[in-house]
Amino acid sequence: MAAYIGRFAPSPTGALHLGSLYAALASYLDARANNGQWLVRMEDIDPPREVPGAADTILKQLDNHGLHWHGSVLYQSQRLTAYRDAIDALENLELVYSCQCTRSRLRSLNGVYDGHCRSQQNLSAAPGTESLASIRIKISSAKISWQDLIHGRCTDELALTCGDFILVRRDGLFAYQLAVSIDDAYQSINHVIRGDDLLDSTARQIYLHEQLGFEAPRYGHIPVLKDAQGDKLSKQRFASSIEASNPGGNIEHCLTLLGLSVPAELSNAPVAQLLDWATQQWSRSTIPNGTLAER
Ligand SMILES: [Zn+2]
Repeated sequence: MAAYIGRFAPSPTGALHLGSLYAALASYLDARANNGQWLVRMEDIDPPREVPGAADTILKQLDNHGLHWHGSVLYQSQRLTAYRDAIDALENLELVYSCQCTRSRLRSLNGVYDGHCRSQQNLSAAPGTESLASIRIKISSAKISWQDLIHGRCTDELALTCGDFILVRRDGLFAYQLAVSIDDAYQSINHVIRGDDLLDSTARQIYLHEQLGFEAPRYGHIPVLKDAQGDKLSKQRFASSIEASNPGGNIEHCLTLLGLSVPAELSNAPVAQLLDWATQQWSRSTIPNGTLAER
């Protein structure tokens, strides 16, 4: 079996907050506890949503919290040629087509595309250029199953959950599902530990790996942190950014949320020491369900 390679892949839409530090820490500890490598990839392919300087801020925050990554950071904005090549490969397999459905038609479908434009013979625009068409991939009717490292057996039927899905948006930007799958394969990622808000993306990514001839990683989905109202902590909801002056306290808080109670003698210890201890203690099976950020 290949050596463990995991990753953390933030979007530079703002600084890390408690919820994203918690997710980074879980993937870091899972990699280290399995003698693996832990890579960082910056998912910067959606400029309208990005905040200038956020990528550097995130990397400084990771470093400040002792979460040191292997090798150099991969920036998705440098990978557009690879995404275009993948679209070409899928086109040669007659798996992609242009969709020119109107927004109101798509809205009426409630998120499950009905294959209306499947008969389009050619892509009407080159991927990566703005046009009125998006590019979709034809899905198969087969069920997709995987053994989630935390949720156990999962099954999804793309025909019921999303239908033919978008690989290139009508604004010319590559879709998350495409870029993440290609780069997980490119970086030989074989373990993905991430928030369970991405559980419903997993089948699409496994499907893309299959069509492109890659082996999909193993996935493990941890409960996302929620606020006292039960909403996901996110940059969009202005979850407060983490305090730079107290990395040890932040790590300790996140460890508690991951089900590890730090012993009194390690309270206020340097982050490196906390992370060593947590690596020894790490277990996927003790991560609490439906964790609340508020203590
Ligand atoms: Zn269409």
